[in-house]
Parts: sequence; C-alpha cells; structure tokens
Amino acid sequence: MPDHVHILIEPRVRRDVSHATEFYSLTEILHTIKSFTAHKINEAEEKSGPVWGRESFDRLIRSESDLQEKFAYITRNPWDAGVAPPGEDYPWVWCPAKEASRPAAETSTPAARAPQTLALRTLVDYIDWSPFFHVWELRGRYPAIFDDPIVGEQARELFDDAQELLEQIAAKNLLVARGVYAFWPANSVGDDVDLYVDKKRTEKLSTFYFLRQQMLKPAGQFNYCLADYIAPASNPQSAIRNPQSKDYLGGFAVSIHGADELAKKFTAAHDDYSAILAKALADRLAEAFAEYLHKQARIAWGFGRDEQLSHVDLIREKYRGIRPAAGYPACPDHVEKRTLFDLLNAEKNAGITLTESFAMHPGASVSGLYFSHPDAKYFGVGQIARDQVIDYATRRDESISEVEKRLAPNLGYEG
Ligand code: SAM
Repeated sequence: MPDHVHILIEPRVRRDVSHATEFYSLTEILHTIKSFTAHKINEAEEKSGPVWGRESFDRLIRSESDLQEKFAYITRNPWDAGVAPPGEDYPWVWCPAKEASRPAAETSTPAARAPQTLALRTLVDYIDWSPFFHVWELRGRYPAIFDDPIVGEQARELFDDAQELLEQIAAKNLLVARGVYAFWPANSVGDDVDLYVDKKRTEKLSTFYFLRQQMLKPAGQFNYCLADYIAPASNPQSAIRNPQSKDYLGGFAVSIHGADELAKKFTAAHDDYSAILAKALADRLAEAFAEYLHKQARIAWGFGRDEQLSHVDLIREKYRGIRPAAGYPACPDHVEKRTLFDLLNAEKNAGITLTESFAMHPGASVSGLYFSHPDAKYFGVGQIARDQVIDYATRRDESISEVEKRLAPNLGYEG
C-alpha cells in the first residue's frame, strides 16, 4: 500500500499530533485485522480441527480481501469514499518524502524530442550482447560466454562475424535508426493516467488505461498498477483547489530500418547465415537505441544529468525509472501502442507502423512509456478477474468481449 495512507485516512489527527493522538495507517489496521482473524482461526482449529473449506472460514477470507480492496479504493479516492468531506480540501501529499526530491520534467508540450535519425556507431556501445547469443540458443552471459567450455568457441566465432557485419553496416549505412520520444504533463485518476495538452493541466490530451494485479497478497503488500507511479490528479469537486502534483509521463518509439531488405539480399545470394545475423543485429541495435534514448530522456528530465552508470549498469537497469512496453507483463494490452503511436506520431517521426494486431513494423522496433518515479519497478499484472475486465472495458468504452479477446492470457476465469 502506498505510504500516503497516513495522510489520507486521518488528516485532522495528523494536524493535531500535539495531542498525542495515536494514528494508524490503513496498512496497520488491515494487518491488525488479519492477525486477529489468524488468531481466531487458530483457536477454532485447536477446538474442532481444520477450518479450510468451512463456509464460515471462506466468508472470513472473503471479507478480509473485500476490506483490502476497499482500503485500496479509499487511499486512491478519498473524496468518493467520504474520507475527505466534500468542499473541504484534502491535504493530499503523494509519497511526501520521495516527492520532495523529485524534479519535474522541463518539457511542457508533447514535442518530438529525439533525433530523427542517429548514427549507428553511437548505438554500438549500448548493445546488450547476451540476448544475441540466445538467437542461436547459446546460453550464457556476455562476455563470460566466451570462456564456456561447451559453447565458448561457437560464441566467439559468432561474435566476430557479427562485428564484421556491424562494421560494414555502419560504414555503408545499410541500416537506419529512427526514433522519437516525448513527455506529457500527466496525473493518475484511479488506474488511468490522463495526459494533458499543456502545463495548465485543464485540457485532456489522451489517456492510458492500466490494469491492476488482483492476486491475494500478504498484509502490508499491495497490488501493483502502473498508474500508482504517477501522481494523482487533484479533485475537481473540491472547493479549495488542491495544488496539482506536476507529474509527467514519457513515451518513446525507436526502430532500425532496412534489416528485412538486407536479409533478403543475403538470402538471394544463398547466405542464410548472414541474413539471420543481419536481423539479429538489427534487433540488438533497436534495443540499444531504446537504452540510448532512455538515457537522453532522463537527462532531459533533469534527474539523469548526474547519472554515472556504466554499460553494465544500464543493462542491469540501475537507473531511476522504468520503460514498460505494451504487451509485456505490467501492461499486457497491446492496444495501448495505438495511443502511444498517435501521441508520438510514430509513423511519421520514426517510420514505424502498427499492424491490426498491434505488432510493430519493421520488426526491429521497440516502444514504451517512461515512468520517472524512483520506486517504479516492473511487475506482472497476472490473472485478473471479471470485475476488473468489466471495469477496464467500461473505462475504455469497449465491449467486454473485445477486451476478453485481447487479454485472454490474463483472464483468471473462463472467458
Ligand atoms: N537489455 C535488454 C535487451 O537488449 O534485450 C532489454 C530488453 S528486455 C526485453 C527489457 C525491456 O522489456 C524493458 O526495458 C521493458 O521495456 C520491457 N519489460 C520487461 N519487463 C516488463 C514488465 N514486467 N512490464 C512491462 N515491460 C517490461
């Protein structure tokens, strides 16, 4: 559960700390209730054997998870939940300790900020080579893989061939790197993230819809949703306007053009090996471009200026923030690529098109969102229940069956 809970539940108590009033967070309350029920269950078991499967036990567990959901709702919607009286502003502080040191993005308009094209040599230093070997099913991490008694020699040959082809590609500009990124003023509204046209944050530009984990978790842990990493919008119904947290969301799309054409030339010359090599190199360069551009975005954002990270640190994602990609576990719905591409005008700015099923063309393309929150991390949404699917479909103004079709792998029920 987020750490603003204290402020959300008892603002007056918080203001009145001098009276030594005890002050509990929702997490603590939930924890107390859970230990109380656990204690009751133990007692019951001691008296009359296992409680699993008993109707009363199931009810208890259900009400506990109901409570957890309700608490999560209250923390996110204090006015709707009646925790903050209408007309009275709420001292909303979002992750206060962290927020203090959080620089806002400097850009105010969704301008395309990336170079339209980039010299391939710039990207070579950003390549993560380990996945390259996986294409040939050689398992191991670069560069240690070269010392592997079984696959080391083959890995070395492959790598040397790749270097040679890479040099040719760079010298003759056989592949072209094109990419774009942008930031937008953004605030979360429930599990959505609204983007605004400009810094005034009055006119909405677009919305990203996210999904929340629904698995039952131990007390004190909460169900992640990417929207949690963006500061919440202030309540428009409030009489005293809450100062809006000036948060931003970023987005990017990068691509390496020309790999299919190059591979075709190799195939026509009966050189299938080089064809595969060219495609694998294009994939590596696209990922390297994503890494490179993310670094530029962190610099533009401000907090990346003092970053001193080695190549390995970048690969290990030691930087602040994340760049989740649609179709991956934290945001499994590929359809969000459409929203991102429209915002970035990725077709024009990076030459990438989306197929009907939201696959990117050319294949050596990467896109995603930039979150800057220091605590942001990747997670998997996992299985979701029908109630969330209905909610999600409603938010997106889509039919439930459409959503169920796209999210089939995530449905925790028979769709
Ligand atoms: N260094 C790797 C490479 O060159 O192949 C980076 C690519 S790897 C697929 C990691 C990327 O996948 C992340 O940068 C992010 O875009 C995406 N990703 C990984 N886990 C994710 C998750 N749980 N949710 C969303 N995106 C995720």
